[in-house]
Amino acid sequence: MELRSLIRDIHNFPKEGVVFKDITMLLQNPDALKKTTVALLNLLEGKDIDKVVGMESRGFIFGPLLADKLNAGFVPIRKPGKLPSETISETYELEYGTDTLEIHLDAIQKGDRVLIHDDVLATGGTAMAACKLVEKLGGVIVQCNFLIELNFLNGKEKINEYSVQSLITY
Ligand code: IMP
Repeated sequence: MELRSLIRDIHNFPKEGVVFKDITMLLQNPDALKKTTVALLNLLEGKDIDKVVGMESRGFIFGPLLADKLNAGFVPIRKPGKLPSETISETYELEYGTDTLEIHLDAIQKGDRVLIHDDVLATGGTAMAACKLVEKLGGVIVQCNFLIELNFLNGKEKINEYSVQSLITY
């Protein structure tokens, strides 16, 4: 079964002119769910990971599945005001305006080997902010991995100081 065939385009979501890659058909298929987790793990080529860091909200799907298989912890990065304890934040540029992400201050220990995971790499702003948050706390980024990379948005270039791997590229 081809994973790509279970990813569908939703036109004009979340706003006019955007073609949204929807992974919900892949998620509801038990074989595809397993196959995706294994394939994302294989991207790491056996590297040791202490923490998997996932970005709100679809980074919370495969993030914990990967953490479980890696015997690593899972750390959520969230939109402002969602994390209950003390946080640090990182603000980044969007096409129009800015966005901010937060992480708990005590989520990463100095020297932690970190896998950054999200469902989609688009412009790379989200991933870059996540990497900066982890590094501010003393973590070491081992890899950023994604289920989907939207090649035409050049996100890989924005985070080219890190090792970047994606399963499916458009
Ligand atoms: P970026 O910051 O431009 O790289 O956008 C990446 C973030 O936006 C990720 O957290 C994705 O979940 C989300 N995103 C962007 N485009 C899509 C899409 O087509 N489908 C699902 N999520 C998307």
